[in-house]
Amino acid sequence: MKDRLDGHTLLIGLMADPIRHSLSPTMHNSAFAKLGLNYAYLVFEIDNEKLTGAVDAIRTLEMRGSNVSMPNKQKVLPLLDKLDPAAELIGAVNTIVNDHGVLTGYTTDGIGFMQSLANAGLDIRGEKMTLAGAGGAGTAIGIQAALDGVKEISIFNRHDQTWKNAQRMTATINQKTDCHAVLFEITEQNAFKQEIASSMIYCDATGVGMKPLEDKTLVSDPAWFRKDMIVYDTVYAPRVTKLMTVAHAAGVKHVFNGLEMMLEQGAAAFNLWTGAKMPVDYIRKLLF
Ligand code: NAD
Repeated sequence: MKDRLDGHTLLIGLMADPIRHSLSPTMHNSAFAKLGLNYAYLVFEIDNEKLTGAVDAIRTLEMRGSNVSMPNKQKVLPLLDKLDPAAELIGAVNTIVNDHGVLTGYTTDGIGFMQSLANAGLDIRGEKMTLAGAGGAGTAIGIQAALDGVKEISIFNRHDQTWKNAQRMTATINQKTDCHAVLFEITEQNAFKQEIASSMIYCDATGVGMKPLEDKTLVSDPAWFRKDMIVYDTVYAPRVTKLMTVAHAAGVKHVFNGLEMMLEQGAAAFNLWTGAKMPVDYIRKLLF
């Protein structure tokens, strides 16, 4: 990096807390180096309290932009000048682009999800999806899938603090896209089984399967899955989750963890900042 940075280097941030564990700096800085682009990507520990000052700094320091993550993805919205239509519907931002002082917010998680399927030659447009979890990731996935042409989404969520968001997301899909969404409580196990049975894709965006729930899955019976469907877990640590083990036992051909989604959400942000295509094959080998 020392050979790359000079007086013209443009800064891109990642504003979240906790965040030191993130793979994003390695992902983006390696891609900048590989393509000879004069940018640097740095992490800043920013909570809700420091967020206004941090967003002002994007303008003051003429940074090219920033990623934002928990706990700032919703809180950042009113601090920006413009929102990409998908980010507005999702109600969250993970990428900010600074065009000469005008800050625009985007959400690339859903784009990453859809791109990871496209990379595997899978097209879920016109199909039905069952989605577990309507928190940050679930909302981005559901709304992006609906915008991209998925025809039906059955959303299953707990009656917890994210229930209101699940209701809002379901209404948004029905009012603002051509997709039909229905919300169920995850305790409705018969409906859960039936909706998965009639779906081309089942996606778990709950984090069940990740620490401290590593040995858990919302679907434990392989009979709930068909060989010709897609089973997608947004979790990427561990690499093989309990849900994926169940899908493998059912002989499901297309089983995903969250790595490709993570890579592609980064690639989409990279493209927004630089206009260049991230060398994803190179980064995949480097990181995974
Ligand atoms: P969140 O807290 O915003 O939402 C969590 C959702 O899961 C909520 O709908 C909640 O009701 C549900 N949930 C939590 N525990 C549950 C349980 N025991 N049973 C049933 N439902 C439960 O979290 P998030 O930011 O949406 O993240 C969710 C998962 O997605 C995490 O595992 C995260 O690592 C993953 N994720 C992956 C990527 C990627 O690029 N691969 C990106 C973002 C998030």
